[in-house]
Amino acid sequence: MTWSILGSGVTGLCVATALTQQGEKCEVITSDTVAASHWAGGMLAPYCEAESAPAEVTELGLKAIAWWQQQLGTVQKNGTLVVAPQRDTQELHRFAQMTQAHRWVKPQSIEPDVADHFEKGLFFADEAHLDPRLALQQLRTNLIQQGVEFHQGKPKGTVIDCRGMASADELPNLRAVRGEMCILQTSDIEFSRSIRFLHPRFPCYLVPRAEGKFMLGATMLESQDAGKISVRAMLELLTSAYMLNPAFAEAKILETGTGLRPSFPNNLPDIEFKNGTYFVNGMYRHGFLLAPIMAEKLVQLIKGNI
Ligand SMILES: Cc1cc2nc3c(=O)[nH]c(=O)nc-3n(C[C@H](O)[C@H](O)[C@H](O)COP(=O)(O)OP(=O)(O)OC[C@H]3O[C@@H](n4cnc5c(N)ncnc54)[C@H](O)[C@@H]3O)c2cc1C
Repeated sequence: MTWSILGSGVTGLCVATALTQQGEKCEVITSDTVAASHWAGGMLAPYCEAESAPAEVTELGLKAIAWWQQQLGTVQKNGTLVVAPQRDTQELHRFAQMTQAHRWVKPQSIEPDVADHFEKGLFFADEAHLDPRLALQQLRTNLIQQGVEFHQGKPKGTVIDCRGMASADELPNLRAVRGEMCILQTSDIEFSRSIRFLHPRFPCYLVPRAEGKFMLGATMLESQDAGKISVRAMLELLTSAYMLNPAFAEAKILETGTGLRPSFPNNLPDIEFKNGTYFVNGMYRHGFLLAPIMAEKLVQLIKGNI
């Protein structure tokens, strides 16, 4: 029996990996649509996410960090630093109350290149990050090495639909949450971990990548417009980066992008089975954080264990 996985975003590739590792035969059907996964920051931040997500996300996200570490050699487990400008210190206190597994720090003791006017920060030592594009490439390469075929033809087996927002034709509850981001590059600033910048209007984050690159993200808009980044988003994101370190003013803007996060009404992922097809979807802002665990859940479901 063959499993035909539709979609090669993080969900499809995690599902294919989980099935292949159980000895199941899989193929992955691809399309030319750019995946939301391509635009992701790659934060694996189960504790920080508890600020706005239920405890389940933290619990499953911690398991996912271990999963990624097992699959790839490129996960950086350096923690997350959360900062706020002096005038928004109450935001930092609120964030501390909503989350756990952190300690108060002087931001520069963790990341020397954070501007001196940030006097207080929260450090979440057990969080991690990865480069999503590299991670997707590595999963794909591993699957190909194990004989999984990637193609754009007709599915040969039982379909597992992991098409992200494209599945809205079959999943009427699915909605898009637009995320705008950009990639900066500078050799003047070095960060080793994700940095979250709290602000009452536009919380944002920076995730370091190789070669002096930084993913700067991301807006959260109830919109299915996948069009170019807006001036407002760009201004707000770049202002935050500039506040974190004014040397970002000289950074190059390598790329801007917009992705649509596939989301169910409760912002939690789910598995559905209808008309002979499995659907794994609704990753919202947690595709990298939760897809590995949803993939394992699907395998258990298929095997009749749950
Ligand atoms: C700016 C931004 C930042 C984010 N940052 C993070 C983060 O730091 N951490 C985190 O955990 N999550 C993050 N996310 C969320 C994460 O990216 C999403 O939850 C995740 O990408 C959803 O993955 P998916 O595979 O379900 O969908 P997608 O990534 O959209 O993949 C769907 C795939 O289906 C394919 N497809 C479409 N139609 C067809 C078809 N007919 N046949 C075959 N294939 C088809 C598409 O080409 C695509 O490859 C972020 C999202 C955005 C937009």
